[in-house]
Amino acid sequence: MTSLAQRSQSTGISQRKSSSDETLFDESNLDERYSRQILFRGIGSEGQRKLAASRVAIVGCGATGSALAGLLARSGVGTLRIVDRDYVEPSNLQRQSLFDEQDAAESVPKAIAAARKIAAFNSQIVIEPKVEDLIPANIEALLEGMQLILDGTDNFETRYLINDYAVDHSLPWIYSAAVGSYAVTLNILPGQTACLACLFPDSPRGMVETCETAGILNSAVNLVASIAATEALKLIVGGASSPKLRRTLLSFDLWTNERAEISAAMPRSGCRACGQRDFTHLAGESRPHITLCGRNSVQIHERQRPIDFAEMDRRLQPHGTVRHNDFVLKFWHDPYEMTLFADGRAIIKGTTDTALARSLYARYVGS
Ligand SMILES: [Zn+2]
Repeated sequence: MTSLAQRSQSTGISQRKSSSDETLFDESNLDERYSRQILFRGIGSEGQRKLAASRVAIVGCGATGSALAGLLARSGVGTLRIVDRDYVEPSNLQRQSLFDEQDAAESVPKAIAAARKIAAFNSQIVIEPKVEDLIPANIEALLEGMQLILDGTDNFETRYLINDYAVDHSLPWIYSAAVGSYAVTLNILPGQTACLACLFPDSPRGMVETCETAGILNSAVNLVASIAATEALKLIVGGASSPKLRRTLLSFDLWTNERAEISAAMPRSGCRACGQRDFTHLAGESRPHITLCGRNSVQIHERQRPIDFAEMDRRLQPHGTVRHNDFVLKFWHDPYEMTLFADGRAIIKGTTDTALARSLYARYVGS
């Protein structure tokens, strides 16, 4: 009880709980709430109990991550850990289904906004929001204890990192991506199927299009999330050897109605990751600067610099407009906008020049 109460306190997410950590749900409520899902033969009561005991991480909570988290939370996945580095903005609302206008107005971090929204429709599961950028230095801590990892990211760098971690730990993960009207997904079952690096030894050329250059249909996002969430249910209920699991790379273009499926049933011999077990992305040094997808902005990592928002607010007042809440501080210094997180990480909007972003950070936050 205490640890759950503490967890709720630390995340700000209110959760109604039963009497022990082991019993995260009330069986009678469970039957009622999930009755239509239990009636489905593929799940049943036994499957529902497995879902309640399951622990799933969703990395990235933008459009795909929101849809995945919403579906799995409503399905009764017992513990969902949501990792996201970003905050909600108005342009997200067209497709990121867990957020609303108030989240955008207050720049609430997506992990926090998602956890709040989920707690409002399913208070019987545990949501663990992590406002962090998944990098080699923190991946062990962020994914520890999870049995399945779902991809809600928007970049291959993070996907290769997840792939290395999952193959190294023999953990299943599900790749999902959507851009324009195109959606693609793959189940990676280490020891059985191909991994991401088997199929794409390098970032695929076709995927260099981003939401910014090609736009995105919310229906493409929901399609890929629906397929991936269903594969997650099969995996949790039937295990990683379930014959129901898809063992192909599946892609759709919803606008042209093209559909393709490539076998991924066997690993590629000599694959860097699953064949040679050369986990270069896992071993990679942490990345000091990242230009974000879909934005004219640069991210600065400064993990060793806890920020006192009240103090920083006072310090920045003479230099521009400052505003903060419990999770982020925003500072406008024309033409730049800096968003500072409690651990010292910052997103600087208005430039793609990493040296300039670094110098703005050094001048206003610290070097
Ligand atoms: Zn491989």
